[in-house]
Parts: sequence; C-alpha cells; structure tokens
Amino acid sequence: MFYTHDSLFPENQEKLVITAAPYGPGFLPGDSDDIPVTMDEQVQKAVDCYNAGATVLHIHVREDDGKGSKRLSKFEEMLGRLRTAVPKMILQVGGSISFAPEPGQEAAWPGNDARHALALLEPKPDQVTIAIGTTGMNITELMSARDVAGTSLADPAMQAAYRDMWLEAGPTFYETNLKALCDHGIQPYFMLGHIHQLETVEHVVRNGLYMGPLNLTYVAIGGGAAGRHPSDLIEFALRTPDGALLTNESLMRSMHPTNAIAIALGHHVRVGIEDNLYGPRHERMTSVQQIAWCVKQAEHLGRDIASADEARALSKIGVTYSSVDETLQNLGWAPNRQPGQRGRPMWK
Ligand SMILES: [Zn+2]
Repeated sequence: MFYTHDSLFPENQEKLVITAAPYGPGFLPGDSDDIPVTMDEQVQKAVDCYNAGATVLHIHVREDDGKGSKRLSKFEEMLGRLRTAVPKMILQVGGSISFAPEPGQEAAWPGNDARHALALLEPKPDQVTIAIGTTGMNITELMSARDVAGTSLADPAMQAAYRDMWLEAGPTFYETNLKALCDHGIQPYFMLGHIHQLETVEHVVRNGLYMGPLNLTYVAIGGGAAGRHPSDLIEFALRTPDGALLTNESLMRSMHPTNAIAIALGHHVRVGIEDNLYGPRHERMTSVQQIAWCVKQAEHLGRDIASADEARALSKIGVTYSSVDETLQNLGWAPNRQPGQRGRPMWK
C-alpha cells in the first residue's frame, strides 16, 4: 500500500469491511456458550453478526452432534438458508472445510479433491478461501494456558493433535483450485500467512494463472504463519498492492490491538470466535461483541462502516479480468518486464 500525506484521514479511507468468523471449527460446542450448533442457531448467528455490522460471513458448518461437518450437502443446506436469512452478506466458505481431529488422530487439512469440490457448491458462495504455499499451522503456539483454560484445547491430547498440523498448498493444489473456483464463478479469497506467500500470489498473477481481484487476509496466527510483531503487519501492508482489499486476522487477544491498527490505517478487519474468545482484559467476548468493538473503534476514528452493498463493490464480487496486464493494472502492480527492458517497468 502507498500511504499519502492524507491517507490516515477517515474521509479518505475505504469504508470499513468487517468479516465475522463466528463458527469456531477449532473449538467444541462446550468451549463457549457462543458456539452455534443446530442449523437454526448457525443461521441466526449470521443474522446477529450482520445486524451488528459485519458484511462478510466466514463459514464453517457443524453437524447436529456438534462436530465440524465435512459434508458438502451440509454446506449447501447452510448456504441455502443464509441466502434467505442474510441475502446481502458476502458468503465466504472456509477452504479448510473442517480440520478438527478425529478421536486419537492428529488434526489434518482435507485432501485436494475435497477442497476442489467446494467449487461445485450450490447455491454458490461468493468467495472460497484459498491458502497459497504449504506451511505449518500450529494453532496452539500463540495460545496461552489462560487462553485455553476451560476449553477442549486445554486437554494435552488435543494440544498434541493440533501442534503438528500443517496445511498442504503447493503449486499443484493452488493452480488447480484457482482454476476450479474461477471456472465456477466463485471468487478466490487469499489467506496469506506472510509476505512470501504474497510473493507467490504475485508470481501466479504475473504468469496468468489467476486473473481477478485480490482480496486477502493477513493471517497472523503464528505457528508457521506470521505472529504478533507489528513490523510484520506493517511490512505486509506496504507490500500489498493498492488495488487489493486487505483484511487483518490475529489470534486470541492480539485481535484487538492489531484490528485497532488496521482500522486506523484504513485496512479491514476479521473478528469472531474462530480466532478469539476474549476481550482485551481476558473476559469472554462473543462474536457479536467483537463486531461491536470494531464498530466503536471505527466511530472513535471517524471511519465509516461499509454497508453490504458497499462491501460487495469494494470486494469486486463477480468481477474478473481477461488478461495479465488488465489484472496487474487493476491490482496496482507494475507491468511485467519486456525482453531487454532495463530499470523499473512502469505503465505508460
Ligand atoms: Zn476458517
């Protein structure tokens, strides 16, 4: 991002897009009284998040027994209900589907075929998240004993099941997945753990393997992804092209200070019990309360909140590009170097 002398004034900033992630696939229903289990409860939670100010819904689904669902038919049932209940909300399916461990096994990401099948969901979600680059995903690394107290993650067996989790997202996966999503009119939503994954996205775009908007989340959850160092957050923002829509994600209580930074800088935020169960002083905090917290921070800074229609326009839902040049230009990246060209390539 390029910050001009007037970039920090709220009237010049994009209206704030708040993503809610209220389903908590890493937790069990008993871990919080803010975890919806039945289909009715899961749909009502979306309505509550929308009414509180969230315009993007990050979706995972539970079976009736509270386990994370891996069945596409269950996702489709949920998407159908959500299209009626929150028709304007941007529906974003979590590409991890469900990584909760089976009894006695390690937590694991679903295989490539299961993730590609998300492109076939009907009704279609607006976005499906995609990881770029194989990486460790030890979600317990940044969680303190106090963070997990009273939850299933306090159980040493669950800690062991999660600590060695990694996600496979090599070129064979992401090239196929990007094509599958684009072929079916679903926008890929990039979940990036650090700058080097963003560099891979740039490589993908420069080589014509993806031609569309760049909506991305800086996934600072540690354990293989970026951690909590603010310099990394800032550097990631500096390296993100101006045409992208950048959202901040953190883990547990660092959600609040990093979202405050993101709101001040004109970026966007993600909240919800998928990432964090607590308020700043370690009191339990619901997904709706986390949304309200961001709305209040934005008010303090004079920053407007995007309506659902505005969030859709900012996210360029339904937009694709037809060439590498058109994509680079819309994202705000320099053109590809021509043979023999010296110096820094620039648009004429
Ligand atoms: Zn998720």
